Amino acid sequence: MPRAHNFSAGPAALPTAVMAEVQRDLLDFRGTGMSVMEISHRSSTFMDIASRAERSLRELLGVGDDYHVLFLQGGARLQFTMIPLNLAAPGEVVEYVNTGYWSQKALQEAGRLRDAKTVATAYDHIPPESTWKRHPNAKYLYITTNETISGVQFQSFPEGGDIPLVADASSDILTRPMNVASFGLIYACAQKNFGPAGLTVVIIRKDLCRDPLQSESAYLNYSMHAESTSMYNTPNTFAWYIAGLIFDWILAQGGVEAMQRQCEEKSRKLYDLIDASDLYLSVIAPSCRSSVSITFTLADSTLNQRLLDEAKRANIHNLKGHRAIGGFRASLYNGVPMKSVDALVDFLADFEQRRC
Ligand SMILES: *Cc1c(COP(=O)(O)O)cnc(C)c1O
Repeated sequence: MPRAHNFSAGPAALPTAVMAEVQRDLLDFRGTGMSVMEISHRSSTFMDIASRAERSLRELLGVGDDYHVLFLQGGARLQFTMIPLNLAAPGEVVEYVNTGYWSQKALQEAGRLRDAKTVATAYDHIPPESTWKRHPNAKYLYITTNETISGVQFQSFPEGGDIPLVADASSDILTRPMNVASFGLIYACAQKNFGPAGLTVVIIRKDLCRDPLQSESAYLNYSMHAESTSMYNTPNTFAWYIAGLIFDWILAQGGVEAMQRQCEEKSRKLYDLIDASDLYLSVIAPSCRSSVSITFTLADSTLNQRLLDEAKRANIHNLKGHRAIGGFRASLYNGVPMKSVDALVDFLADFEQRRC
C-alpha cells in the first residue's frame, strides 16, 4: 500500500522520512538494543533526545533565553485551564478574541476560573482590531492563531500592549515565522504539525511563571514543570522524541520560512481551484483564509458522500469537515507533501467536470 494522501486535521500526516527513521530505530535505538519507549526519561540517552529537541525548536522559532520551552501533556485543552490559572489570580479579568470553535472553548474554560471577557466575536473573519473592546485591567489577551475547524487565520498578530499576548498556535505553529518576543505565551499540541498526540509545547516568558506555592495546583503550575525540565511526572517520551526528529527535519528543509513558502503554495493551489469553481464554495473572508486548514462546501450538498467515496478510491483520505460545521476540510500541515495536494486538486477538478 502506498502512503495515503492524508488530509486529516489531527492526528495528522507526519513526514514519511521521519516515520521511516522511527521505524528503523524502533527496536534498537542507536545500538542500545532498546526502543526509546523502553528507556528511562532520566537516562542520558533520553536526556540528550529531550534537550536536542528543545534546542532545535528554539532555533526554528528564535526563542530567546528569557523564555521557558516546556513539553507537557494533556493536549491543547489542558492549556485552556493552565493559562488562566497561572496568568491571573481569582477574580481578575482576562481577555479573549473569539474567532471560532477553539477560542470559544478556551474562553468558556477560562470563565470557570477567572473573569473572562470577550474582546470581539466573529467566525468567518478576524474582526479588525479597531473594533475590539479591550478591558483596562485584563491580565492577558488571548488569540487562536488558526481556527482549525472553520479555517480562519490571523495574517498578522495584534499587540498585547501592556499585557502579555497569549496564543493557541496548535494548528499553525512551525508553518510560518512568529516573533516569539511579542508573545507572553505560545502553545501548541503536537498532533497537527510536529508529532503524534499526547504532547503539547508551551513557550512562556520566564517572568510570567508564578511561584508554585501561590498556585491552586502544583501540577498545573508552569514553574513546577520548568524547574523539573518538563519531567515533573513521566513525560510522553516517545512523542517528544518524534517531535525532535520533526524539528530537525524542518531545519533541514530550510526552517519555518521554507515551511511557509510550501504552505502558501499548497493552499494557493486549492484556493485557486475553489475560487474558479461553481461547485466548491468557501465561506471564509479571503483576507483571513487559512493557509493550513482549507474548508469548503459543495453548491450541491447531495454530492457530499459521493465526493468522499470517490476520493477514498483515489487514495485521498480524511476530507470530511469537523462534525461541528460539516462540509469539507483539507489540512495542509507540514507533513502533507506537495504531491498529495496535487493529487487532491486534480481529483477535485475532475470530480467537478464529471458532474457537469
Ligand atoms: C486541535 C486543537 C485543539 C485541541 O487539541 P487537543 O490536543 O485535542 O486538546 C485546540 N486548539 C486548536 C487551535 C486546535 O487545532
